[in-house]
Amino acid sequence: MLRLSQIMGQENALKTLKAALPPGQPAHSYLFTGPDGVGKRSTALAWAQALFCAHGGGDACGSCKPCVKVEKGNHPDLILVKPEIREKKVKEEIDIDHVRDLIGRLSYRPYESQRIVAIVDGADSMNVPAANALLKTLEEPPGETVIIIIASNMDSLLPTVVSRLRTVRFAPLPYGAVVEILRSQRGMSAEDAKTMAALSKGAPGSLGEEALPVLRQDRARAMEFISFVADARGAEAFRLATELDKSADKGRADGTLDMIREIVRDIISIKVRRGCDKVINMDVSEELEKLSGRLTQRKLMMAYDAAVNAAHMRKWNINPLLTMGLLYQELKER
Ligand SMILES: [Zn+2]
Repeated sequence: MLRLSQIMGQENALKTLKAALPPGQPAHSYLFTGPDGVGKRSTALAWAQALFCAHGGGDACGSCKPCVKVEKGNHPDLILVKPEIREKKVKEEIDIDHVRDLIGRLSYRPYESQRIVAIVDGADSMNVPAANALLKTLEEPPGETVIIIIASNMDSLLPTVVSRLRTVRFAPLPYGAVVEILRSQRGMSAEDAKTMAALSKGAPGSLGEEALPVLRQDRARAMEFISFVADARGAEAFRLATELDKSADKGRADGTLDMIREIVRDIISIKVRRGCDKVINMDVSEELEKLSGRLTQRKLMMAYDAAVNAAHMRKWNINPLLTMGLLYQELKER
């Protein structure tokens, strides 16, 4: 597991959390919110470890007894709650029994430390009875407890619950930070890390390495298609669309259409800002710059709308060949 000092790109969140470490005092309850895969859970665990650490200070030492117990997942004062599929249910949920168990535990004193830390992960899936039960605890928090609620979408929580929590926001990570995380923590090659950083849109935890070759291919096709549009190479655009249509996995057509939209968005950004600073697909920024010189801003705007429409058409199950054929036609005629 990570230490607080190894959490990258979340300076704002870390500032709040570090200020609450000794000699500071943590609040009773927090909401960690932000997109999936940007490090909310890792940060919650790292912070809990720092709160339990026998040496105190700005981070966990990693070697004292409490630190080792957190690392091994058997610290008696650290409670983790996460969604589960319960009997007769079809989807994962945090239900009232989870919350009752938690409240029960919080009514006892901590066994070994100054306080109990409870992490409720995936709180988006908490049902209403569970949320109401939790609300009572949040209104009158028992003794020495710190409750961390993790939710990617704040709107999924009852407003009454949110109002009781101290909000700590997690943002998508900057490109450079993701590259560094992937290299140092997952041991990826520089090339793969750069591609992954771009394709995960700042949320490295949201994407498994196995997804990389497929996404890379979708993107390559998307860039090829845009290039055909730029040069009015209809026959080649048609060949590419036919290939996608024949592909056993129709998801690849949808993936390619998504990528077309994203790539066009990036090229528009390069044109408007006269640089690549806000580009998502940073690892192919040179190719994007070249493409931007071959397309007018007007055509790019049309292309963006057309790509959004094409994605809608796919939702109505219109086949990839026709969808992409129309997309090409629409752009050619402008
Ligand atoms: Zn320690």
